[in-house]
Amino acid sequence: MSRIVVLGAGISGHTAAAFLRRWLPEKDEVVVVSPQPDYNWIPSNIWVGVGLMNRRQVVFPLAPVYRSHNIDFRQARAVALFPGGDAASPQASVEIEWTLPQKAGQRERVPYDFLINATGPKLNFEATPGLGPGRNSLSVCTADHAEQTSAVLTEMIERMKRGERKRFLVGVGHGGCTCEGAAFEYVVNLEFELRAHGVRDKADIIFVTNEYELGDFGVDGVPMRTNGYVTPGKIFAESLFAERGIAAITKAHVFGVEPGLALIDTLDTGKAAVPFDMAMLLPPFTGVGLKAFGPSGDDITGTVFAPNGFMKVDANYEKKPYADWKPQDWPRFYQSPAYPNLFAAGIAFAPPHPISRPHTNADGLMVSPAPPRTGMPSAMIGKAVARSIVDMLSGSTRPTQSASFAEMGAACVASAGSNPFRGTAASITVFPIVPDFTRYPEHGRDMRFSFGEIGLAGHWIKILLHHMFLYKARLRPGWFLIPE
Ligand SMILES: Cc1cc2nc3c(=O)[nH]c(=O)nc-3n(C[C@H](O)[C@H](O)[C@H](O)COP(=O)(O)OP(=O)(O)OC[C@H]3O[C@@H](n4cnc5c(N)ncnc54)[C@H](O)[C@@H]3O)c2cc1C
Repeated sequence: MSRIVVLGAGISGHTAAAFLRRWLPEKDEVVVVSPQPDYNWIPSNIWVGVGLMNRRQVVFPLAPVYRSHNIDFRQARAVALFPGGDAASPQASVEIEWTLPQKAGQRERVPYDFLINATGPKLNFEATPGLGPGRNSLSVCTADHAEQTSAVLTEMIERMKRGERKRFLVGVGHGGCTCEGAAFEYVVNLEFELRAHGVRDKADIIFVTNEYELGDFGVDGVPMRTNGYVTPGKIFAESLFAERGIAAITKAHVFGVEPGLALIDTLDTGKAAVPFDMAMLLPPFTGVGLKAFGPSGDDITGTVFAPNGFMKVDANYEKKPYADWKPQDWPRFYQSPAYPNLFAAGIAFAPPHPISRPHTNADGLMVSPAPPRTGMPSAMIGKAVARSIVDMLSGSTRPTQSASFAEMGAACVASAGSNPFRGTAASITVFPIVPDFTRYPEHGRDMRFSFGEIGLAGHWIKILLHHMFLYKARLRPGWFLIPE
């Protein structure tokens, strides 16, 4: 009998656990350790944040789903890995701290044969003074944050209906953020909803981003084949903003948020204080802060994890100039080079370097997007890692299933307004995620598989995806037939 422990029940960990359970014999144990009782379909938080959905529509309790699928769920947070065992036993284990109210604070060691770290990001609001819920800005990163954001928006709309003018600032709250696509999706949905409420003329909307130019999305741009032409992501994003009257501040590092005031340093125009009535600014991400210890209690966190807290895997982490970055630097199997039974999936793995061209400000701070790890690749990595582990348990000496960002594409359907008749969404695919100018000299992407379109059909696809992915996550009959 083997035990596979999955840390994290988000898009990546939940996918990995579900496929492990499907592919492994019943005698093998699949254990999921995750601190929240609920699964959250994060992409739909955008709609919660503009008041179109409520929290209950984007979350569901995990315990009953896992119980009925023979997955051992421990509502707890992982604290430390002992990948080479400890003084008492050579068996690898993970220390967890329960968050289940009845056992809150209790710690225990969970031994494992294989471990998948799918703990996602720590939402690092602390990186910018004053940033985040409970401070001076809002977020849609969790369902709770999105609900708070929606409540503030409702109040703003009421005030605008009474004749007040309001200024909205939406974007990323630090020069090193990722998830520009999510901020972009929020701003265009916000604009759509303000129009739907008849108050658009009372609103100024500003998008603030660390992208050097709009449409970079953290992947060095998305060239899109549309009607036989190739449109750069920049043109696509700029025209979307122009049509909707959304202003943009690019190349920006938000270095502070005061009540009603964002302190912004841009690479070209320098420092400015931008007033707002409502600000939804996403935080930068780090790893969740797991520690690692050797058998004699020595701290080996630096061996297992990169300085940003994400886990080192089979990537090329050599520091080198932008011109020397290679698609082959990106990991294929997400296996720890130090411990072959340890994997990281989804946001939890340490990327070798950004995908966007790096830019730094006068203080040497990187002001350009960190690599995005969106839902589709996160799920595909979770599934690939699960397959590799199943094969290794059956005798393979090495992982079998690769899922490199340099060899896979990503599809993103970004809602730009939710309405069954007047809604729109941008459907974008890009292949590969990491540009490869050796294979695709002109655009770095295979233009047969990189395209974009905006329209009502995209909105229907987005709604369909919301229901399909929640159906899949609930592990309802035939869930495994729904692609990642
Ligand atoms: C607002 C927003 C909108 C987005 N929209 C889209 C979209 O439209 N399309 C798209 O493809 N992607 C989108 N994304 C990105 C997508 O949500 C992520 O790619 C995806 O959630 C990453 O999956 P993950 O499993 O790595 O991390 P997560 O989904 O964040 O899951 C991490 C899990 O680990 C758990 N955890 C945390 N700490 C610990 C610990 N110490 N021990 C154990 N477990 C722990 C968490 O509770 C969680 O269950 C969006 C992201 C945001 C923030």
